[in-house]
Amino acid sequence: MSKFKEAYYKLGDEYITVKEYSDNIHREKVYCPECHTAPIHIVCKEKIKPYFASDRNDKHLKDCQFYEEFISNKNLIKLIDSKNIEDKKRLNFLIDNGLQGAINILIKNRLDKLETKQNSIKENNSYGSPLVSSNTYKRESITRVNIKNLIKRKDELLDNFIIIWGKASIQSKEDEKINSKTKEKFKSKILNFRKDNEFKFLISLNANQINYYKELPRNMTEIGFAVFGLLKEIKLADNIKRLKLEIKSTQLYYDLG
Ligand SMILES: [Zn+2]
Repeated sequence: MSKFKEAYYKLGDEYITVKEYSDNIHREKVYCPECHTAPIHIVCKEKIKPYFASDRNDKHLKDCQFYEEFISNKNLIKLIDSKNIEDKKRLNFLIDNGLQGAINILIKNRLDKLETKQNSIKENNSYGSPLVSSNTYKRESITRVNIKNLIKRKDELLDNFIIIWGKASIQSKEDEKINSKTKEKFKSKILNFRKDNEFKFLISLNANQINYYKELPRNMTEIGFAVFGLLKEIKLADNIKRLKLEIKSTQLYYDLG
């Protein structure tokens, strides 16, 4: 059973919190906030704050992070620190599935909106690239947070390896830094992710990554993305705190459609 702080109300095409839930309006009409497919319901117990829950993981879309059990941050760090080839393969498998799953959901939501306009109904299909199925590796979900919930969930997510995804405006800024040991200059590029005209987080690309992403437009508006990394809080020169996602490799995916 998975728990949720918000639910997707299909008829209104909106997300509601537990406080906004009204039995008259929402009963049996709210769904998983990520895949919009698994039905969820409200659980009210004495002495516990009410929450949303879904009964069975297999009611979620395969691309949804709630379809599988979650890997803990501790076990994820074990895989990241391991020198073992099998561990590295398994780690890449989990990251790729998490990123591709997020992109598939973005594509699905984009197509669903088009179809709602055309008044047709499509059944529970998968979109985008199929997730890699593997007999060798057990699929486990890496915690994934939508950019619009990132600030709200900051305290719980800081210093964890996570996937941030959703739609954002991304502005890039070239930067030249000096290596503190060798005093050599090197290039970096800062990508600022903004949502609803507010800064949410940044990532910094090294020379290899700049080269890898060189085809991307300089500034992008409302682009679907998913990126894996370690969430940190940094202080800028003027004491402003910023969220930074430290990425190690080319684990930033786009939906340019
Ligand atoms: Zn779901």
